[in-house]
Amino acid sequence: MFHSLLKPLVMTDSPAAVDDGSAPATTSTTSTTFADLGLKPALLHALTELGYEEPTPIQAETIPKLLGGHDIIGQAATGTGKTAAFALPIVNGIDESTPARPVALVVVPTRELAVQVSEAIFKYGRGSRVKVVPIFGGQPISRQFKALERGVHVVIATPGRAIDHIKRRSLDLTNVRTVVLDEADEMLDMGFTEDIEAILKATPDSRQTVLFSATMPPRIAKIAQTYQSDPITVKIGSGKQTKASTLIRQTVYVVMRNYKATALGRILDIEQPTSAIVFCRTRTEVDELAVTMNARGYRAEALHGGMDQKQRDRVMSRLRDGSAELLVATDVAARGLDVDSLTHVINYDVPSAPESYVHRIGRVGRAGREGIAITIAEPRQRRLLKNIERLTGQQIAVEKVPSVSDLRSKQIEMTVGAVSEALAVPDLEDYQPILDALGESHSERDIALAALKLVHTARGSAVDDREIPDASDWKNGRDRDGKGGKKQGKRAPSGKPRGGGGDGETGFVFVNVGRKAGVRPGDLVGAIANESGLTGADIGPIRISENYAVVGVPESDVDNVVRAMRSTMIRGKQARLRRYVE
Ligand code: AMP
Repeated sequence: MFHSLLKPLVMTDSPAAVDDGSAPATTSTTSTTFADLGLKPALLHALTELGYEEPTPIQAETIPKLLGGHDIIGQAATGTGKTAAFALPIVNGIDESTPARPVALVVVPTRELAVQVSEAIFKYGRGSRVKVVPIFGGQPISRQFKALERGVHVVIATPGRAIDHIKRRSLDLTNVRTVVLDEADEMLDMGFTEDIEAILKATPDSRQTVLFSATMPPRIAKIAQTYQSDPITVKIGSGKQTKASTLIRQTVYVVMRNYKATALGRILDIEQPTSAIVFCRTRTEVDELAVTMNARGYRAEALHGGMDQKQRDRVMSRLRDGSAELLVATDVAARGLDVDSLTHVINYDVPSAPESYVHRIGRVGRAGREGIAITIAEPRQRRLLKNIERLTGQQIAVEKVPSVSDLRSKQIEMTVGAVSEALAVPDLEDYQPILDALGESHSERDIALAALKLVHTARGSAVDDREIPDASDWKNGRDRDGKGGKKQGKRAPSGKPRGGGGDGETGFVFVNVGRKAGVRPGDLVGAIANESGLTGADIGPIRISENYAVVGVPESDVDNVVRAMRSTMIRGKQARLRRYVE
């Protein structure tokens, strides 16, 4: 049986393939490839260069439909590969001969996302000479005028800034063939509904309209109804093979991206797996992580689709005979892989579809044995984790990344274990001559301590004393679904509970610009979200007076927001914020 870990499970009722581990370690020929989706060779080349081995479910389902000219409603969260799902069809339609006038407009809620999407499109489109520019609030508009004047094919814009450019006639939308609303629910939460409608109205009626949103509240359906024509809905997560074995202990550690490798090392030091498989998304990531882990003293082997059968066999035998302890692999390469001694499955990234998660972790917890599944997630991937929990009906326990002192205790425990084992073996008398030689000038205690020092350091117990900041608060404080909070929401001054966000306590910030300066709720939410990293759902209620505004944010973030907004302009005015106390 072939294993279709990432086969589209979209909009079908067919159960996902159950990974029973019985298949040979070969690459499946049944799964969808990027070439099957109808993308041009230059793009396929770019994807190989990036180490993408196969489309994620949302890509497999969406790309052919977008290439076929359909409007799409895509229900997908960050981490599902949604950016490439809409970006690849856009890039596919552009080449050197395309006049440098905007043919695609992607509207996103925040500056970060604008930059991220623009970088992705740049990477995919480099071989096709695609010109792309992000335009967002907070950056001097004159710089954006110049970039737009030089000529571009794809514009990635935040709503407010897009409107500014449309009004100033610096953004020519007459040739736009595709408009994408990315993270549409987030934009509506931020108060950008009017802006989005104005943007859509300013583009040609003949456009293709693509809407991506993690959730589908009625307000999104209304936008779709008004501005799309016969949209096809694509959503991931309908496979039925959803249960992970109850013998698997599932945990997640939440850390910022740049701490992931260190966190993995720390977790492995504590967990001490006999043999573990670490899943990465791309070939490039597999190669890099295998090198990093080897440099940190782990015996790691890489396994990905770019390797031939002989190389794969060699890697697998090293894992089976114990000369390698970590296998770093892509989903494609690990398909059908069955290793009896496997104790841990580690997701170095949250898988792009909940079904892949279940398949991946199904490699442990078999035949009555216990297994451990560890996921390393970034705070922004919380929604993907929620989807997984919803699909499996099982909670993934959030754990704190082990601290330096946890690591030290573990290392001491291991040295104690090793020395205790040595004490139980009856060959100690052989070492009496050494003790006698040292005993002439040292006490037995000092000799024991020196010997322990040698054992302890020889075991690789060098102390890595860098603490890894823990980002696991997201699950309680920042959860838009609001299920994880501990405290009861405090009533806001308007008498309404805090808008949409988690149920932690609300604090307030005073902002020195108001209606007179033309400030609208979207300006405040956009600026605060951009600068502080809060989401639209975290922000509110908002009260705008003639000369100032008062904005609700999570109490624990008030100081952070005030600090983050120190050099921010709102509606062309230097914003000054302070804590607001009634
Ligand atoms: P997104 O959901 O668009 O934020 O994408 C999440 C991450 O997955 C990004 O780092 C992408 O580069 C990566 N990615 C997207 N598609 C694929 C793919 N087919 N294979 C491997 N990685 C991918």
